[in-house]
Formats: sequence, structure tokens, C-alpha cells
Amino acid sequence: MKTCKIINRRKSDRIYVGKVPVGNHALISVQSMTNTQTANTLETINQILELQQVGADIVRVSIPSLKAAESFKIIKKKIKIPLIADIHFDYRLALKAIEYGADCLRINPGNIGNQKRISEIITCAKDKNIPIRIGVNAGSLEKDILKKYKEPTPEALVESAMRHIEYFDAFNFNQFKVSVKASNVFLATESYRILAKKITQPLHIGITEAGGLRNGTVKSSIGIALLLLEGIGDTIRISLAANPVEEVKVGYDILKALQIRSRGVNFIACPTCSRQEFDVINTVNQLEKKLEDVSTPIDVSIIGCVVNGIGEAKTATLGVTGSNKKSAFYEDGIRQQKKIKNEEIIEQLEIKIRNKIKKLDELNTFKKNNI
Ligand code: SF4
Repeated sequence: MKTCKIINRRKSDRIYVGKVPVGNHALISVQSMTNTQTANTLETINQILELQQVGADIVRVSIPSLKAAESFKIIKKKIKIPLIADIHFDYRLALKAIEYGADCLRINPGNIGNQKRISEIITCAKDKNIPIRIGVNAGSLEKDILKKYKEPTPEALVESAMRHIEYFDAFNFNQFKVSVKASNVFLATESYRILAKKITQPLHIGITEAGGLRNGTVKSSIGIALLLLEGIGDTIRISLAANPVEEVKVGYDILKALQIRSRGVNFIACPTCSRQEFDVINTVNQLEKKLEDVSTPIDVSIIGCVVNGIGEAKTATLGVTGSNKKSAFYEDGIRQQKKIKNEEIIEQLEIKIRNKIKKLDELNTFKKNNI
């Protein structure tokens, strides 16, 4: 994988969410959140498994009631990847979530109540050695802060975060990460920039309530890319009004585009025009679906004709370049003797990609065992 050359990452402290390291130059983890009723244990487990399948490193689950907490207890036993319990208002739910094995809590100390309750949560988290995320959101700033700044501003978000951080400092607790999210890209990014200079803890970054699949992806990509390219951000969550599986896919697509982290098939495909010799769009769509389970990074170019097809195929791991009736196939930049019949491209490419991945995995295992 090529390395992103622009990145000069902010040095942050390291925390662990389960076994996943966050901060201090750890791999940037991709998170999402379930949107099932947590009390519906089976549906929630299935959704977490779907998220895991597409590469989620960490999943957050909201616990709005005691019933949800009891369900979380069962869910936790069935799931291998780390789970964050999302808690608002009721400190007893936080204590329950910790007791039931949460790998991290997400709380807003401002809505938990008095310091005694917060101290109970912190004592319990310390006891179980689990971190907490302080999540500040432009949509739920404290009344006095809003009065002071008139509207959510970067300074207002950071003041809110620092107020919560002081709670944690007072209890000598530093195992936390922080987010200062807004749906406005400029508000969110500027808040993170200011906060990044004030604390050493890892930052969970994202554009909150970004919107539906298309415009939410655009806003998230701009905001997250701006921050990551400035070295800010240790873990990401894309907030979409869509199936959370899409959040994870978009998260990886952002990291792939920035050459920060790669997972699965990176399709290079042309936009198509009247020169295309086979149906590029359908081919890419079908293969994206068929190969969702693939985690090994691999570049595959699918280009409709020779105009750009040869150049792209030469730099991809596998590539197909459209030509009349049968298209040229490239492996590691070398044109293979046998062409692929255009009507068999989807089927043949799937086989070839899976075979190549098998070889790459074997090679990686061999390298690991012989270092
Ligand atoms: Fe059209 Fe060929 Fe360019 Fe694809 S590569 S857009 S088919 S000219």
C-alpha cells in the first residue's frame, strides 16, 4: 500500500477500546453505531455482525433503558469486536454497562448530573480499566455556554469539552478520548483544530448528523479529510441517515482515498462513454456487492476501453481493459495471454480477484512467519 505523504499526525496519548488501540499513531480505526432497538437482542447482534463483516473496528450501542442494558449483557457475550456503550442522563445505566462488559463508554458528563454520579462512573471505569469518550455536540451545548456565545461556535464547543475534561482531571482520570462534532463542516473542523492544541488525549472525529448517503458522505469526506491531512484524528465515525454498514464503507473509502489505510478491493473504474466495450457500471456494482467480504487490500481497474485502460491496468494489481468481444486482462501490470469474453467479465473477474487474494494472503503469512 502506498503511504500518504501529507500526513504529519498529531502525537496523542494511547488508549485501548478492547484490544483496539486508539491514539499515539495507532491505525486510524473505523467506528459505527447500531440503529436497531438495543433491547431487540437478536437484531442488534445481527447488525453488529454485518458491521464487523464490512470492517468496523469498534461498534457503539446505545443503552437508553435497563432493558437495553440487560440486552447489552447478552450481546456482549456474542460479539468479538469492542463495543462502546452510549449513555445519556442515567449514571446507573453506565454502571450497568461497565458491569456487563462494555469496552468503552460514551457519555456527556454535562447530562449525567452531579459530580458524585460522575465520580462513581469514573471509579468504576478505572476499576475495570476501560476508557470513556467525552462527546460534545453542537446540537446539545449547555445553556450557559450557548448564552455566552449566542450560537454554537468552535470556541463554545471547545469550552464545553474542556469543562467536561476538567471533571475527569479532577478525578485523575486520563483514559479518555474526545469529540467535538457539528453538522457544519467548518464549525466541526475548527473546533477540532482548537481542541487538538489544548489536550493530548486521542480525538474521535466526524461530522455529526451529516445527512443522507450522498450529501452525508460528501460532508464527512471533506471534514474528515481536512482534519486527517492536518494530522488530527485517531478514530473516525461517519454519521449518515442510512444503513450503518454504509458508514463503515464510506469510512474506509475516505481512508483509502487518502492512502492512510486500505481494506478490501479498491476499484478503479472509468465513468464510461460510448467507447466502452462492456457494461463497466454494472460490472463494478456487481463486483462491489460480491466482494464485500474481502478484507485484503487489492487494486482492481475496470476500464471500458484502451484510451485509459492500459495505463490503469499497468499500475493496478489486476485490471481489465475493454476491447471488442474479448477484453484484455492484466495481472501485476502484465498483460495476460488469455483474454476474457466480455459477457463473462463479472464471473471471471470475481474468480481471478479471489485467487489473487488467496495468493497475497499466503505470501503475507509466509512473510510474517519468516521475519
Ligand atoms: Fe470512455 Fe474509454 Fe474513457 Fe472509459 S476509458 S470513459 S470507455 S474513453
